[in-house]
Amino acid sequence: NKRVILKRHVTGFPTEDDMELVTATARLAVPPGSAAVMVKNLYLSCDPYMRRRMTKHQEPSYPEFVLGEVITTFGVSKVVESGHPDFKAGDLVWGMTACEEYTLITKPASIFKINHPELPLSYYAGVLGMPGLTAFSGFFNVTKPKKGDYVFVSAASGAVGQLVGQLAKITGCYVVGSAGSDEKVNLLKTKFGFDDAFNYKKEHDLNTALKRCFQQGIDIYFDNVGDEMLDAALLNMRLHGQVAVCGMISQYNLERPEGVRNLACVITKRIRIEGFRVIEYFGTYRKFEEEMVGHLKEGNITYMEDVAEGIEKVPAALIGLFYGRNIGKQLVAVA
Ligand code: NDP
Repeated sequence: NKRVILKRHVTGFPTEDDMELVTATARLAVPPGSAAVMVKNLYLSCDPYMRRRMTKHQEPSYPEFVLGEVITTFGVSKVVESGHPDFKAGDLVWGMTACEEYTLITKPASIFKINHPELPLSYYAGVLGMPGLTAFSGFFNVTKPKKGDYVFVSAASGAVGQLVGQLAKITGCYVVGSAGSDEKVNLLKTKFGFDDAFNYKKEHDLNTALKRCFQQGIDIYFDNVGDEMLDAALLNMRLHGQVAVCGMISQYNLERPEGVRNLACVITKRIRIEGFRVIEYFGTYRKFEEEMVGHLKEGNITYMEDVAEGIEKVPAALIGLFYGRNIGKQLVAVA
C-alpha cells in the first residue's frame, strides 16, 4: 500500500521534501466485528487547508497531521470490504480518506455513497464534493445574492471560485473574477461566463483594478485569498455589502498574518463580513447534490479539473496550489 506521509512540520512554503512516499507492507483488512470500511482510492483531492494541518500549531479547527503517518484528505473511492451495514463491496463513495492506495475508514460517517455514477467520478472530489458544497453553501447561505448584484470572486478559476462565479451568473448577478495568469483570466471570460476578469499579478494597484471593473461598487465579495485583495475589496464595497470569507490562501504559508488596513469600511458602509466553514453544511449535502447534478446535466455549470496521475504526484500537486500551478480543481488520479 503506497502512501504519502508527512515527514516534518512545515514552516513557510511547503516543499516535496516535507512529505515522503512510503510503502506499507501490513495487510489492510476490516477487523472482525468492527463497522470500518476498507476502500481502494480512485481520486485524491489536493486542498489549500491541508497546508494548515502541516504546521505544528495550536489551531484546534485544523488539527495537525501526525508526523510519519499518512496525510488524510477528501477523495473518491471504491469499497473493497465493509463491516458497516450501509456499505458493501463495490459501492462507490466519496468523503474523508487518505493519500494512499487503500484506506481503512474507521468512521464511515465521513463518507457518502455516490448517487450519480453516470457523471465523471472525479466530480465527487470537486464540483459534487467538498469544494462544490463550499461554493454553494458559502454563496447562498453566508451571502444572500439577488438578481442584479455586483459580485467579485478571488482565486476565481480554482476549485471553489469557478463555481461561485457560475452560480452568481445563474442568479442573474454581474460577476468579475481575479486570477493569477492571463490563461486563467481568459478561461473565466470564455469558459465560465464571468462578465469580466483581471490578472491580479499584472495590476499595479488592486483598488484601481476594482474601480475599473466595478464602477458602481461591489455588493458581494467572495474572498478566497485575504490580505491585499480583501483590503481593496472593502474600499470598493457598496453600502450594506456582504463579504463571505471562504479562505485566505495568501496567509497560509506566513508565520504571521498580514494586515487589512481598510477594516473601518465595515462601519461606514455597514458591510457584513462572515467567515464560514464547509463542515457546517455537510448535513445539507444531498439537497446540494441534487441541485448541482441538475445544473451539470442541463449544462448550466461546467467544471474544470487539473488531474495529476499517480500517488507519487500528491506532494507536487499539493504544493502547486500555493504557486497557482493548478488550472481548475487539483486532483490526483490514483487508480
Ligand atoms: P484553488 O483551486 O483556487 O487553488 C488555489 C489557488 O489560489 C491557486 O491556484 C492560485 O490561483 C491562488 N493563490 C495561491 N496563492 C495565492 C496568493 N498568495 N494570493 C492570491 N491567490 C493565491 O483552491 P480552492 O478553490 O480549493 O480553495 C480556494 C479558497 O477556498 C482557499 O482559500 C481555501 O482555503 C478556501 N476553502 C475554504 C473552505 C471553507 O470551508 N471555508 C473549504 C474549501 C476551500 P491564482 O493563479 O489565481 O493565484
